[in-house]
Amino acid sequence: MRPFTYERAADVPAALRAAAARPGERAPTSAHAQFIAGGTQMLDLMKLDTMQPGALVDINGLAPALGRIEYGPNGLRLGALARMSEVAEHPVIARDYPVLAQTMRMAASAQLRNMATVAGNVLQRTRCEYFRNPAWANCNKRAPGTGCAALDGVNRQHAVLGVSGNCIAAYAGDFAQALVALGATADIAGPKGTRTIPVDALHTGPEAPDVETVLLPGELITGFQVPAGPWTRRSAYVKVRDRESYAYGLATAAVALDLRDGVVQEARIGLGAVSYRPWRAREAEALLRGKQLDEAAAGAAADAAFAPAQTREGNAYLPDLGRRTLVRALMQAQAMEA
Ligand code: SF4
Repeated sequence: MRPFTYERAADVPAALRAAAARPGERAPTSAHAQFIAGGTQMLDLMKLDTMQPGALVDINGLAPALGRIEYGPNGLRLGALARMSEVAEHPVIARDYPVLAQTMRMAASAQLRNMATVAGNVLQRTRCEYFRNPAWANCNKRAPGTGCAALDGVNRQHAVLGVSGNCIAAYAGDFAQALVALGATADIAGPKGTRTIPVDALHTGPEAPDVETVLLPGELITGFQVPAGPWTRRSAYVKVRDRESYAYGLATAAVALDLRDGVVQEARIGLGAVSYRPWRAREAEALLRGKQLDEAAAGAAADAAFAPAQTREGNAYLPDLGRRTLVRALMQAQAMEA
C-alpha cells in the first residue's frame, strides 16, 4: 500500500475542506483526496493498488448527522452513513419498502454489512478483474485510453445493457437499482453548496469509463430521499449469483408494483449486474401498465427489457438469465400484500 495522509472530519464543512479538489482533477474516483466511511471497498482497492489516494478523509464522525433513518407519510430519508445492516433490519423499511431491506440483506456478508454504508454501496465500483488488477495494461476505466481487455477476455460477469466498446463493466452494487426503481433522489454537498439529483441520473455511461458518476471531485453524498407511493409495499429484489451465501450478482432485479384487481397501474423496475450502471427498464414498465400481471405479461416485459442487450462470448447467457430474474421478481412482488 502506498503512503497516504489521514484526517478525521468533525462535520460536513470540515470534510469538504479536507477533500477539496486539486486543479485538473477529473473525477472523484481518481482524486487525490478520498472520503472513507466503512472502508470496505476503499481499503480493498488501495491494497490492490487500483486506487492510489494521497489523502483519506474519514467521515465516520459525521454519523450523528448523516447516519439517520427517518420516515413519515411523504417517504423515507436515509442518511448516507446509515449502515447496510441498519437498513436490512429496520422494521419500517422491511414493512413499507421491502425491496430496500432485501437488497441490503442480500449484499455482502453480515460483517461487511455492519461496516459498509448505503452511500458506499451505491458508489460500489465494478468487480471487473482487469480493472482490479493493475498488472493488466488495458483498462479504460483505470487507465483512460488503454483499451478494454475484457472485450475479448474473460467476460462471463460483464454487462450486456448500456455497454460500449469502451467498457463492458457490470455495476456491482445492490441498493442503487432499488433506489432507481423507487424514484429516489440523492442529496449532494460540495464546495459550491448543495444540490439534489435523481439517483437515476447519478451514474454515467461508458463514454468515459473513468468517470463513473456526475459527482465532482470534492463532493459528498449526504443522503437519499425515497418518496412514498402506492408501489413501495409490494416491492421485491431478486439476486441470482454463483453462491447464494455470499457473492456478487450475475443478474439482479428490483421491482415495485401498484396493482389494482391484478391490473398493473404502475410498475417500477431497476436492474443491476447485467448493466453498466443501475438500469431503469422503462420499456418493460410501459408494457406492463394496464395489463393483468401473469407470467406471460411478465415475460413479454422482460423480453423488452433485454431487447437491446449486447453480448460477448462469455456472457451470452446473461440476457436469458436476466429475463428470468426479472420475471421472478415481478411474480414475487405480485404475490405480496400491499
Ligand atoms: Fe476496464 Fe471496463 Fe474493460 Fe473492465 S470492462 S477492462 S473495467 S474498460
